[in-house]
Amino acid sequence: MRNLIVILGDQLDRNSSVFDDFDAKLDHIWMAEVREESTHVWSHKARTALFLSAMRHFADELKQNGFPVTYLRLGEHAFASLDVALEAMIRGENPARVVLIKPGDYRVREALKAACKGCDTPYAERTDTHFYCTEDDFSEWARGRKEFRLEHFYRMLRKREDILMSDGKPEGGDWNYDTENRGSFGAKGPGLVAPPKPFQPDQITTEVLALVEHEFAGHPGELAHFDWPVTSEQAQAALTDFIAHRLCAFGNYQDAMWLNEPYLYHSKLSAAMNLKLISPHKVVGAAIAAYRAGKAALAAVEGFVRQILGWREYVRGLYWWRMPGYAEENSLHAQLALPAFYWTGDTEMACLKDAIGQTLKYGYAHHIQRLMVTGLFALLLGVRPKAIHEWYLAVYVDAVEWVELPNVLGMSQYADGGVMASKPYCASGKYIQRMSNYCQGCKFKPDLSVGANACPFTTLYWDFLAQHKARFAKHPRAAMQWRSLERLPPEQLLAIRAQASTLRARLTQSDEPT
Ligand code: FAD
Ligand code: SF4
Repeated sequence: MRNLIVILGDQLDRNSSVFDDFDAKLDHIWMAEVREESTHVWSHKARTALFLSAMRHFADELKQNGFPVTYLRLGEHAFASLDVALEAMIRGENPARVVLIKPGDYRVREALKAACKGCDTPYAERTDTHFYCTEDDFSEWARGRKEFRLEHFYRMLRKREDILMSDGKPEGGDWNYDTENRGSFGAKGPGLVAPPKPFQPDQITTEVLALVEHEFAGHPGELAHFDWPVTSEQAQAALTDFIAHRLCAFGNYQDAMWLNEPYLYHSKLSAAMNLKLISPHKVVGAAIAAYRAGKAALAAVEGFVRQILGWREYVRGLYWWRMPGYAEENSLHAQLALPAFYWTGDTEMACLKDAIGQTLKYGYAHHIQRLMVTGLFALLLGVRPKAIHEWYLAVYVDAVEWVELPNVLGMSQYADGGVMASKPYCASGKYIQRMSNYCQGCKFKPDLSVGANACPFTTLYWDFLAQHKARFAKHPRAAMQWRSLERLPPEQLLAIRAQASTLRARLTQSDEPT
């Protein structure tokens, strides 16, 4: 055997460069389902099911197209982890080299490299053509910079890729339309929003759902609502559906939340892109085509493109640039355990109940729910970044470490000390009140910071400001926010701090704020 081609669960791309010089007489494809990928963090059942179903569909497609594939199914072999399984394959077949696309997870990459080294077999990585930006591009951009802001990176890529540009200038005159991306729904709510196209489980998915229910019975999350796209054709249909029904309002309502409305105008395409069922180039291209055809306004399309060409590429660059130390960072010295209700949704805080509830039901929450509800609460409470990182990696079907870790540690927890975010994303319950209807049905009041009805977000917000005053009171971007502390009478601040401390103690013991 010349090349043993390893394809991982998030590398399901028929145009991948691993196939570039494939010769069926000399090369062989290897894929494996292993327990460890669902247990190294306590994975949501739907996350495991999505990966396994998409892998099985992909392997079948390869076989139908004449590719020789060895596929190890969970429950039909005794290898606990990818490296152990790969080592056995290498020893059995003795390939000249192992070829693969760089894994999206540092842990997996190191394990597979070690397996090859242990067998004295060369490990050959190929470029991931799924992304616009290589790791080298990112390092070159980052070299010598004092600040690593998304906006600068995004402009560089817009120009380089000639995306939404007109005569060397940004389309419409502005680089971003962020100010038009912060709408909320008002009292009437969102009205009827077309839900994302569902994909009913076929025979392969049905078998996988039964397998996951059996093998991972004690894991968090539900499978009853599983309707994720699991093939590239389905991913394309999901994209077409988004462009036709939700892109037009994506920009305006990007930050809005509403009770029992998990998707609103979001695309629900992250999982399909992260598993490589569809390329970001196709997704961005379809959004721009809708703009050129007059079917969506520039603000909506630019807002959407910025998430993919900007944030998605930027966090990947940051991940590989900062790893392995990134996962250990804890600049705010947060040490608390994650409250147990993150795994059950069993809390009286209506916003957290809804965001966690839908996460357990579907394996999905949109960006602002992740950043300004579950992430914000962990930040204000002082949860250890690694604990909240492991939760995010476990519960979202789109979670792969290269994208999850920078978003959690960098953007939401400020654990990297400002590499990613210029200041902590901290806010009181009033932000959630402004952007959603959660507070209307909640026993707590967002404008109260002390007393039985005080909103825990608001109490913890003021306490957070007080706790980190020395660090941020003179910070160029944060000082204004910290100055609001001066408006609080000292006795009120004392009462807030006492309530925050009781709250923290109670949450680590009984998980409930009152
Ligand atoms: P849309 O709102 O429709 O956005 C379109 C696309 O833009 C997404 O599909 C995604 O590919 C990309 N995108 C948007 N925001 C980001 C971002 N901040 N970083 C990278 N890509 C982005 N995204 C993941 O794919 N996997 C994760 O594990 C993940 N964990 C997150 C954890 C936290 C704390 C936060 C704040 C964000 C996280 N994100 C993650 C980013 C973002 O929340 C999700 O990509 C998005 O909610 C997925 O839903 P969607 O496809 O409907 O996105
Ligand atoms: Fe969340 Fe506070 Fe609003 Fe309740 S009052 S929904 S806890 S922000």
